[in-house]
Amino acid sequence: MKLTERLNQDTLSLSFEVFPPKTDTAFESVKHATEEIAKLRPSFMSVTYGAGGGTSRYTLEIAKTIKEHYGVPTLAHLTCVSSTRETVRRKIEEIRAAGIQNVMALRGDIPQGMEQEDRSHWDYRHAVELVRELRESNADLCIGGACYPEIHPESQNQKEDIRYLKEKVDAGCSFLTTQMFFDNNLLYNFLYKIREAGITVPIIPGVMPITNGNQVERAIKLSGSFMPQRFKSLVDKFGASPAAMKQAGIAYATDQIIDLFANGVTNVHVYSMNKPDVAAAIQRNLSDILG
Ligand code: FAD
Repeated sequence: MKLTERLNQDTLSLSFEVFPPKTDTAFESVKHATEEIAKLRPSFMSVTYGAGGGTSRYTLEIAKTIKEHYGVPTLAHLTCVSSTRETVRRKIEEIRAAGIQNVMALRGDIPQGMEQEDRSHWDYRHAVELVRELRESNADLCIGGACYPEIHPESQNQKEDIRYLKEKVDAGCSFLTTQMFFDNNLLYNFLYKIREAGITVPIIPGVMPITNGNQVERAIKLSGSFMPQRFKSLVDKFGASPAAMKQAGIAYATDQIIDLFANGVTNVHVYSMNKPDVAAAIQRNLSDILG
């Protein structure tokens, strides 16, 4: 099923993200986590590509299993940074052969310490080029892209970021998923600005439940997200106690999601990080709200 069919429904739903294992030995535990999350019957599950510590090798295999064995629509991520055109075309062919219908087209992060001149020979510099490649291929795909309510860390300003975002959508994105954020007002402000800029595709807000104190620093560093005082106080108070932080983090994410639903959002993507218990707890909290 193409995600656009799902996203155009009015019912309220959650989708979840998993990331592939770092090593072959971790495959079984990721498979188990994936199966448990799939049992929650989310609107779809996304599988990252070399992000969150996972490798890219298993992305397609996991995405295919989610779709074929668990009957949940799946979204396979694909990055293009430092890949050759030949490699990307081969990947697209593999996606087509696996029967995957939804692809998240990403640039990927620039390897640390790499200078601008070292990138001069790259076949792809931005996600927009991957979107075009996917659109022009013979795979009939629903393509998604990433967007940043608090602007992408490399952007000079929001106006420029939104201008490039519009270019990416015009190249063939049917929906966008946001970077995590901890203050919903940032999202509402962003939505206003992108709609004003003529971006009309569905936007899926991404919410990350922070369930352990050590996760905070890494998540903020990766995303550059603003931490509201309310959230900081919660981490200060409960960060040292794993059980309390987990409960508080789930409650904070639940609260964010309820507010998003109350303000017109119909699908929230939960960065569930291979944690079925966290995904299940959020879903339980919303049992009478979800469609
Ligand atoms: P782009 O759209 O190319 O944007 C990157 C920067 O370039 C922005 O500052 C943008 O304004 C600018 N830009 C865009 N087009 C142009 C242009 N034509 N000329 C000049 N500047 C331009 N990473 C992974 O490795 N694997 C994953 O699975 C993964 N999943 C993600 C899922 C989501 C929802 C999000 C938000 C991020 C994900 N990431 C993942 C991280 C992502 O790869 C990084 O944030 C990366 O730095 C940017 O990727 P992008 O696709 O947004 O890039």
